[in-house]
Amino acid sequence: MITGRTKLLGVIGDPVGHSLSPVMHNRALAALELDYRYLPFPVKPADLGTALAGLAAVGVGGLNVTIPHKVAVLAHLHDLSPLARQVGAVNTLCWTDQGWWGTNTDVAGFLAPLGQRAVGQPMLVLGCGGAARAVVAAGRELDCPAIHVVGRDAAKVAAFVESWPQPLAGVQGHTWEALPQLLPTAGLVVNTTPLGMGAARDASPLSWEDLQALPASVLVYDLIYTPRPTRLLQMAAQLGLETQDGLAMLVGQGAEALEIWLGRPAPVAVMTAALETHLAQAI
Ligand code: NAP
Repeated sequence: MITGRTKLLGVIGDPVGHSLSPVMHNRALAALELDYRYLPFPVKPADLGTALAGLAAVGVGGLNVTIPHKVAVLAHLHDLSPLARQVGAVNTLCWTDQGWWGTNTDVAGFLAPLGQRAVGQPMLVLGCGGAARAVVAAGRELDCPAIHVVGRDAAKVAAFVESWPQPLAGVQGHTWEALPQLLPTAGLVVNTTPLGMGAARDASPLSWEDLQALPASVLVYDLIYTPRPTRLLQMAAQLGLETQDGLAMLVGQGAEALEIWLGRPAPVAVMTAALETHLAQAI
């Protein structure tokens, strides 16, 4: 029941209708028996500052930030975490006495299903967009001795590598032509391209032959969470390679955001089940 004391959390984006965050967060808040609701707020880029001021004024204590505001929101913050500064993007806001504070929980989300599994492994990142930034930051946490980033546009890959605040030892940019040299040395391969979802549902960033060139001990991680499994992970599993899809990352970034807002552990199993049920019904 919504009461006079009900507190609000939410997500801002444009569009925001596709976001799965309301499903997982409302289920989590209900499981914790908290008088909170989590709503999607459609916010146009031109309205970002007004929306953030207005949401703060009506007492919204925490927000997630999705496309296209993850970078633009930096201009509206009182402060941000060192990690968000490093990634250059914010996906979680918390209201403080001084203003909005921002951080990036995609890094923790990416790391959540890995544990010690990928520590010290050479990493191969396919794509160099927004999500790849969180993956590269996570690669540093994992002490990856080398992080190879592959993109289809040489200038964009070069800009990606150069854009980090501090020079990143071991991060190298390549175009897709370099794959034959890179595949045999990879310990962790991460797909951050949309190849495998939506209109490109039947596509895969790596071919069967590419996958055969990987070491048998590799972990193939696809950030896509629908369909499950993607074509990439289907083929990797057929070859006996270990795989990880993007659902645990989605839950992990949401769980860390909830813990920041509430100061208590998030019900990760409840959040995972809510998303699994929702995605199964959506197919
Ligand atoms: P983005 O910023 O648009 O980056 C996408 C990257 O993929 C860019 O480098 C892009 O290259 C490349 N790319 C696009 N189409 C390609 C193609 N046909 N062939 C080769 N490269 C291609 O998107 P994003 O926000 O990083 O998201 C990327 C993926 O990660 C999406 O599938 C998203 O759903 C997923 N994701 C999952 C989670 C999670 O929690 N599991 C979180 C974030 C993102 P150009 O720059 O040359 O176009």
